[in-house]
Amino acid sequence: MSNSNGGVPASSHAATQVLHIGHRADPTTGSVAVPIHQTTSYQFRDTEHAANLFALSELGNIYSRIMNPTCDVLEQRVAALEGGAAALALASGQAASAFALQNVARAGDNVVSSTDLYGGTWNLFANTLQDQGLEIRFVDPADPEAFRRATDDRTRAYYAETLPNPKLNVFPIREVADIGRELGIPLVMDNTACPVLCKPFEHGAAIVVHSATKYIGGHGNSIGGLLVDGGNFDWSAHPERQPTLNSPDPSYHGAVWAEAAKPLGPIAYILKARTTLLRDLGAPLSPFNAFLILQGLETLPLRIREHCRNATRVAEFLSDAPGVTHVIHPSLMTGEARRRADTYLTGGLGGLVGFELAGGRAAGRAFIDALQLHYHLANIGDARSLAIHPATTTHSQLSPEDQLKTGVTDGYVRLSVGIEHIDDILADLRQALTAAAAAVTAAAA
Ligand code: PLP
Repeated sequence: MSNSNGGVPASSHAATQVLHIGHRADPTTGSVAVPIHQTTSYQFRDTEHAANLFALSELGNIYSRIMNPTCDVLEQRVAALEGGAAALALASGQAASAFALQNVARAGDNVVSSTDLYGGTWNLFANTLQDQGLEIRFVDPADPEAFRRATDDRTRAYYAETLPNPKLNVFPIREVADIGRELGIPLVMDNTACPVLCKPFEHGAAIVVHSATKYIGGHGNSIGGLLVDGGNFDWSAHPERQPTLNSPDPSYHGAVWAEAAKPLGPIAYILKARTTLLRDLGAPLSPFNAFLILQGLETLPLRIREHCRNATRVAEFLSDAPGVTHVIHPSLMTGEARRRADTYLTGGLGGLVGFELAGGRAAGRAFIDALQLHYHLANIGDARSLAIHPATTTHSQLSPEDQLKTGVTDGYVRLSVGIEHIDDILADLRQALTAAAAAVTAAAA
């Protein structure tokens, strides 16, 4: 499960880590690009080797549902990038969010989650996990103490997104992580919108989730997810609060994960996720997708800087644009929202921008239809600039009241600002705003 790093000096710099951690050159062929290990299974050296692998007394490859050498390099690089102990690559960000909670919470338990979530995560939490007996209690992240108030003896985890859209209010990571640590509860952070920009483990989070589909992959070609173990949470210190890691697991000949993992490092959480959830539910990332995501990861630190720079310019431009009543980007925030952004987004203020058109739904539709450079699609974090009108697409199934609660109004447009030349991005926005204004005038005539 691990490739030699070939004696490369350890680096704390993201730009170096994503290129060199976990693989330098293939020991057999010399291949410098990470090989795609398109295999289901791995030949054991002998019966003792096989028995050791199954008993976890030796780590190694058994079967690609549970581990794969191409995925392993991605896991090592993302774990290093986040400053965590180890990671697990999964078929999607959704699988990573589900595993993050299922790894510690069972039917009858509960998790306290921020209300400000990606819609797919909201559905997973409010419906599918709820149907499976896991209660998710939603609280407003504006008040960190709401997490404590919603906690009881069966609370196993806290969950939130670092930079949730559409509101783009940065989550109070340290404040909620500290409450959790006092009570023996790990904070899981979905850091999809700000890899490199925010390091949740430095602020007390215990677990990080990524949809690698977004900025990490960055080229809109593969769905993938990652679950990262910070290795910074003492599971054995809270045996009653965290029974899944502290009581014998009948599915793995009675292993107590918090103890069984100790000789291998502070990886109890991720070892359990791999050896039980991934084994049983089977949502592995394919080695081909891992390869594509690795190509994206190699330039992530460079790309994300450009996303942030362009997004700040777009926010400035929209603030002065006629027909735009409100612009959302951390660079324009003040007060507590700005303090949180500056505290947690130390690498840059993010590539997402939201804005409100005075002409409502008609203006929103006309704006999107007039875009020429921007793609109209339901994704974020692509190298290309993307736009969507949530009221008529991603949020159209919600009632008008629920749309408003999530921050989506009729004239709201979300941009995922790409890395094209800023002049071209602004020119496209300018002409689409003109078209939107003309459509509103025509409708009124
Ligand atoms: N988390 C966030 C913040 C997302 O935006 C998304 C997808 O849009 C997901 C999780 C789910 O990821 P995936 O689409 O890779 O399953």
